[in-house]
Amino acid sequence: MGDVFTIRRRGLMFVLSSPSGAGKTTISREILARDDNIVMSVSTTTRPKRPGEVAGVDYKFTDETEFKLMVNRGEMLEYAEVFGNYYGTPKEPVMAALEAGQDVMFDIDWQGTQQIKESVRDDLVSVFILPPSMAELESRLRTRAQDSDEVVASRMSRAPDEMSHFPEYDYIVVNRDVEESVARVMAILTAERLRRDRQVGLGDFVKGLREGP
Ligand code: 5GP
Repeated sequence: MGDVFTIRRRGLMFVLSSPSGAGKTTISREILARDDNIVMSVSTTTRPKRPGEVAGVDYKFTDETEFKLMVNRGEMLEYAEVFGNYYGTPKEPVMAALEAGQDVMFDIDWQGTQQIKESVRDDLVSVFILPPSMAELESRLRTRAQDSDEVVASRMSRAPDEMSHFPEYDYIVVNRDVEESVARVMAILTAERLRRDRQVGLGDFVKGLREGP
């Protein structure tokens, strides 16, 4: 028997979705900086790189031909077309992290969340981030200053549709204040990690306790 004080835990898949500009990238970066037990799934996309983005860190950038090849080879855990570009989650790094006992965070849309949910229902925890108002959403998209007016308008026009999927998520956080939202999302993560059925080593741990001293 292993060390009775180590309670093994099944890794969980932690999904954050929101309309573009609601703040989930900022929130996810903060969580990664504060928590060593969760890693980010780096998506592959066919959309052009934005100024300031780092290939291999923010996204793996590719073209449509290569993307479709990856899909056909069964290398994507999920994928979707968003704003006319393809986005997908490569399967292998996610499985490797989960097997190593780490949790994995995903910044994906509702289409991807539905696909992952179908295959791993119990190990998926989903959080939807809402903006406090549409005016605030637009202002955040504009101050990001990386996208043209046309792109901002297209993202704004997609937001109501994206937000209509909030009932499919386990938790909802309205992002009024980044610090408050990070604390709330961390609280969700902490509570979900403590669920009895995720702590697979509990039986041995309690046996050790009972055998004392
Ligand atoms: P952006 O272009 O602003 O980085 O992302 C646009 C949208 O695509 C966001 O809602 C983001 O969550 C979503 N997205 C990013 N990566 C993936 C992915 O791998 N799969 C899916 N389904 N959506 C993604």
